[in-house]
Amino acid sequence: MRIDKMLANLGYGSRKDVKKLLKDGAVTVNDEKVKDPKHQVDPEQDAVIINGEKVEYKEFIYLMMNKPPGVISATEDSQFETVVDLLEMEDLVFSPFPVGRLDKDTEGLLLLTNDGQLAHRLLSPKKHVPKTYFAVIDREVTADDVAAFKKGVILDDGYETKPGELEILKSGITSDIELTITEGKFHQVKRMFEAVGKRVIYLKRISMGPLELDKTLELGEYRELTDEELDKLM
Ligand code: URA
Repeated sequence: MRIDKMLANLGYGSRKDVKKLLKDGAVTVNDEKVKDPKHQVDPEQDAVIINGEKVEYKEFIYLMMNKPPGVISATEDSQFETVVDLLEMEDLVFSPFPVGRLDKDTEGLLLLTNDGQLAHRLLSPKKHVPKTYFAVIDREVTADDVAAFKKGVILDDGYETKPGELEILKSGITSDIELTITEGKFHQVKRMFEAVGKRVIYLKRISMGPLELDKTLELGEYRELTDEELDKLM
């Protein structure tokens, strides 16, 4: 790969900025000063150093976001702010996209990556990746609802859901629940509650497969996955 392309991909500026860095003698490859933007490097093997700092090459990026309400799970939109609009330039250069969708008003765990294979594995209906949501429901959730979800409920379009595991955390005028489902139909959690005559008034995803939402992330914040989280995902 050309050195200027590699450094631009890694967020060291535009090709023009990178050309200037090279011209200024700021870059060495395996201890040799390199000024030619066309110089070929092996990003996995060669030691590239800029102003004394080693460049860490990576092909993929994996970000965990605590999605805030009011933004949409897409890479671009003509009307609304998207989750990708919340990313810093240094991450945007990897062209990450959200893995699956949360509704505009839903909060919580969203993975963004440029690793298409991983995204495909996590989203494939055949893999039955469990997703857990915390929700507030507009009325009392009962043991009958737990039983109904365990069996599978019929959605408004006639689809019968796979079993969902419903746990009542607090039941009263409104209820707090956790629901784990292994599929991802459009508005699934909201429609499952509609099927039993109830309404979701707050929804947040708290886990997806082995990934749990980092509770220290404020709404709209994100961070890279740790090596441990990545290992669990792979
Ligand atoms: N189910 C929903 O209804 N909405 C979401 O955003 C995710 C799951």
